[in-house]
Amino acid sequence: MIESYARRRFLQFSTAALSMQGSLRAWEPSILKGEDKWVRSVCEMCSSRCAIEVRVVDQKPVWLQGNAFDARMHSSICARGLSGVSQLYDQDRLRTPLMRVGRRGENRWREASWDEALAFVASSMQRLKQNYGAQSMLFSSKTGESFDLLSSFAANYGSPNTFSHWSSCPIAIESALEQTFGERAYRDFEHADYIVNFGHNLFEGLDIPLSKAMARFAANPSKKLIVLDPRFSIMAGKADEWYPIKAGQDLAFVLSLLHVWLRDAKYDHAFVRRYCIGLDALKASLKETTPQWQERYTGIDAKTIERLADEIYRAAPRCILDWGHKATTSPAEFQRTRAILIANVLMGNVEKKGGIYFAKTPEMLNALIQEPLFPLLQSPYPTPEVGIARIDGAGEERSAYRFVPKKHGVLNAIADAILTQQPYAIKGWFLTRHNPLVTVADPQKMRTAMASLDLIVVNDIYMSDTAMMADVVLPESTYLERDESIHLHHGLVPSYTMRNRALTPLHRTRSLHEIVRSLADALGFSHAYPWKTMQELRAYQAKGNSALLESLVKRGYVQATIPHLFLREEASARAFCERYAHVEPRHVLEMFERRRKTPSGKIELFCAHIEKAFEGYGVPCAVDMDVQQNYPYTLISGKSAIHTNGHTQNVPYLHALMSDNPLWMHPSTAKAHGLRQNDTCYIENEIGKEKVKVFLTEGIRPDTLFLYMGFGRQTPLLPKIDRKGSSASKLLPLKTAPVCGAMITNTGVRIVRA
Ligand code: SF4
Repeated sequence: MIESYARRRFLQFSTAALSMQGSLRAWEPSILKGEDKWVRSVCEMCSSRCAIEVRVVDQKPVWLQGNAFDARMHSSICARGLSGVSQLYDQDRLRTPLMRVGRRGENRWREASWDEALAFVASSMQRLKQNYGAQSMLFSSKTGESFDLLSSFAANYGSPNTFSHWSSCPIAIESALEQTFGERAYRDFEHADYIVNFGHNLFEGLDIPLSKAMARFAANPSKKLIVLDPRFSIMAGKADEWYPIKAGQDLAFVLSLLHVWLRDAKYDHAFVRRYCIGLDALKASLKETTPQWQERYTGIDAKTIERLADEIYRAAPRCILDWGHKATTSPAEFQRTRAILIANVLMGNVEKKGGIYFAKTPEMLNALIQEPLFPLLQSPYPTPEVGIARIDGAGEERSAYRFVPKKHGVLNAIADAILTQQPYAIKGWFLTRHNPLVTVADPQKMRTAMASLDLIVVNDIYMSDTAMMADVVLPESTYLERDESIHLHHGLVPSYTMRNRALTPLHRTRSLHEIVRSLADALGFSHAYPWKTMQELRAYQAKGNSALLESLVKRGYVQATIPHLFLREEASARAFCERYAHVEPRHVLEMFERRRKTPSGKIELFCAHIEKAFEGYGVPCAVDMDVQQNYPYTLISGKSAIHTNGHTQNVPYLHALMSDNPLWMHPSTAKAHGLRQNDTCYIENEIGKEKVKVFLTEGIRPDTLFLYMGFGRQTPLLPKIDRKGSSASKLLPLKTAPVCGAMITNTGVRIVRA
């Protein structure tokens, strides 16, 4: 079942790469005399996990590019991915464990051996457990394998308090999908004819396969792309029509679109009747959300809504309303995302080519084919139930965060829980590659809270703002220096990737696996991790499937060679059945018709259990749309194609490309405040006051201001980025969106002259 691709090894020098003298030196003939090999692995310069290959000359990685075994990648890679080599050789990396010698946050350190540092961490954790209970320790990590491992470590230690970056990023989407479909859904951009985009900026918040699919779509003159974004983003620049919608008002747009469709009985009646519940409640909720009603919220005129509603519906089912991640979230985030999902459902595009689809998992395909053709994986990270309530109440009955997955938690709840020591004593925090002083709202309050803890352990590549607050800093090996387990990617076809290291660590750094194993030994639960080596762990995970392992070591990426399967698309089902003769089209449809994992077993336009817990939220309606809170401007923030949140600002290549983040401001706004290009001023609200440099552009609404994320750092040991640029987080209140617990990243501000 492993796909075989003709190898196309050619080098695509991007303009950015050509300006990078460090990488060009690697191609000098003298260097090419030694061992020259390619290692296939997985990028970690952002969380998209693109398949990559690394050219290693004389044991030195010199070049990175996309892994062509993933046909969607070919050799493509983004500037961040290409800069993995620059991060590897960055002189500012952490090279050895450090232990605090001054006051917390004072930034005075001494070097320590791994034995000493880990013994200190283990004994401190043991002491906290004895004195306050294991639940007094918090654990947080970026999402991915490190989070799975850290969650397992926390559970075996006895703490329920694990936090991923979900609540500061995709939680509204995950929650809306769960409540509507009972599972994740994906978008078939490749075959869509019409896409409505709500700030899902795939040309800056990159995912190479998805971004390329979107680029092909946008470049095709027979297709139509509508973008709603207060800012003229790169995505907006590719649109057929761009609407500079007021920040946080997407919900009003979608509600009026739904109103028009329901008013005119334009929806897939058969699909809704057969597979959905809650149409009457939806109709009742949308009675007043007319195109005229939405004008005052969105700034888009009613006639345009009528035209778009007609156009979009006529394009169905090869039409997608894209719920994809956007960097700024409003209090209405859950309702907004639900409304977008429901619009897709009403178009009847579910499991249709060019519409939306559910994952074709190995389990599902094996059941359909009635043969165990697709490898199943088992988790190497046991995570026992802890049986203690979390500090944020995530997943607990009657909690405000009852619909937030226990595993992921609510980051915004941490600061208050530490400061009040409620619902119980909180004394320690173990963070791996997580920088809440940059990525979570109100870092001022978080800093105060962290200062009161007894123990902070940070595992990272750089001395981040958060690492500066630690007692112990454990330097992590970069992804080029470590092996990891197998990762199963869901989508139309299951695929598997594996991170293979390109070199042994350059410095005295370790992987989180090595750290966790050592600490588990010292804390008395080494039995949870019986694997001694990564090879043993992988073999356990793959259930001894050596063919899969060998392929992944060699190729880094393997994908099942099956026809793409859309369960409600006749031609697609037929093609699949031709390949597997004993499968009949009715079996394919039965897969779709199985009971969904929602409480009703159907697609829920109305969620009774949400309504019971959050009155008025069971069905999309006009709530929580005030993001300006009586301030004259709304501050929004977003991802850049050059940097990944707060992680990459110090990487030399990327720093050379982007070292600052001036504030986007409309010329009329600047004029009203007597400001000019490159002037400095302040933006402020009740949470904070931040100095900004003005960047004048007509590519933003006059009532909106924009900052790229990840700047305005406090990192004296990283002088290149210390106090450069401005931080939007410092102006965000610790508020969360109802139901899903998402951090709210639209906020009201005023402009103050410097
Ligand atoms: S989008 Fe770029 S940085 Fe992110 S994983 Fe892919 S190649 Fe790496």
